Amino acid sequence: MFCPKCKSEYREGFSKCSDCDTDLVAGQPPEAEDEVRYVEMIEVFSTYNPGDIAFIKSVLDGEDIHYFFQGESSAMLVAAGAYARLLVQQDQVERAREILQEAGFLK
Ligand SMILES: [Zn+2]
Repeated sequence: MFCPKCKSEYREGFSKCSDCDTDLVAGQPPEAEDEVRYVEMIEVFSTYNPGDIAFIKSVLDGEDIHYFFQGESSAMLVAAGAYARLLVQQDQVERAREILQEAGFLK
């Protein structure tokens, strides 16, 4: 049994979801498609500078680019001398590179 609304699973004997007050459905909850879909992330840029990271994030957010900064934490960057890597969804890599070029981060 599961709740069609929040996808919580219930044992036999329950008929309503305690959270949503929705009638339960028999069977297993379907997998959410977004979670199953695997998207390859490509590294397009890396930086030691937390200021760069903040700027790039604001620009990419504005362009609706799906990205991820790996190793991003300003305290950690300074302490470890490590750098943050900007990973962008494969089909948006070209657009992200253009944006970074326009902003002067890539030559
Ligand atoms: Zn529910």
